[in-house]
Amino acid sequence: MRIYMRTHTKATQDELTPQLAIEILKEGNERFVNNIKAHRNLLEQANDTSQGQFPFAAILSCIDSRTSAELIFDQGLGDIFSIRIAGNILNDDILGSMEFACKVAGSKLIVVLGHTKCGAIEGACDNIEIGHITTLLNKIKPAIAIETETKSDRKSSNKEFVKNVTRHNVTLTVDQVKKQSPILHEMEESGKIKIIGGLYDLDTGKVTFYE
Ligand SMILES: [Zn+2]
Repeated sequence: MRIYMRTHTKATQDELTPQLAIEILKEGNERFVNNIKAHRNLLEQANDTSQGQFPFAAILSCIDSRTSAELIFDQGLGDIFSIRIAGNILNDDILGSMEFACKVAGSKLIVVLGHTKCGAIEGACDNIEIGHITTLLNKIKPAIAIETETKSDRKSSNKEFVKNVTRHNVTLTVDQVKKQSPILHEMEESGKIKIIGGLYDLDTGKVTFYE
C-alpha cells in the first residue's frame, strides 16, 4: 500500500482541528513503524511551498540524530515546524518560534517530544559540567528535582530514574509553554490549538502521546 501525500495549503490547514493534527502525526508514526512511508515528491513540494507554507504542527524535539521529527512522523516539506534543541528544553527564543508557528502561521498543535536514551537527560542526571553544556543541562534540573520516587542511585546508569526524569522534563516543558506564553495559553483555552507532550522510543520507533 502506497499513499500519495499532497502538500498542505491554507485550505487544508484551515480545515484541521488540533485533534485531527494529532491523528495525522499518529498515522504518520504508524507508517514509520511499519516501514510503509508515504510517497512524496519533495521537489514538487519545494515548488508548491515556495510562495508560502501552511504547516499543521510545531514539534519541539531533541537534536539527537535519531529523532528527526519529519522522519519519525513520516511528514514532507511544508508539513511541520521543527524546533530542535538538546534535551527538548524551553527558552524565550523557542517560545517565540512556537508563537510564530501558531499565531502567525496557523499551526494547530504544539508537541514537546522527548525520547528514550537521551544524552542530554543522562548528562543532567550525572551532573555533567562542560562549557555551555552546563547552562543547557541546568534547564533539565527541575525535572530531576520533581523525580522523588527514586531514593538512591540517582544517576544515568539507573534506567528507571532516567525514564522518569525524561517524562517529567516533557511535562514540565509543556507546563512552561502554557505558563510563559499568554498568546499560546489563550489559543489553547479557546480551542484553536493543543499543546501536548510525547515520548519517542528509540528501540521501537513508536511515539506515545501524553494525552
Ligand atoms: Zn536527546
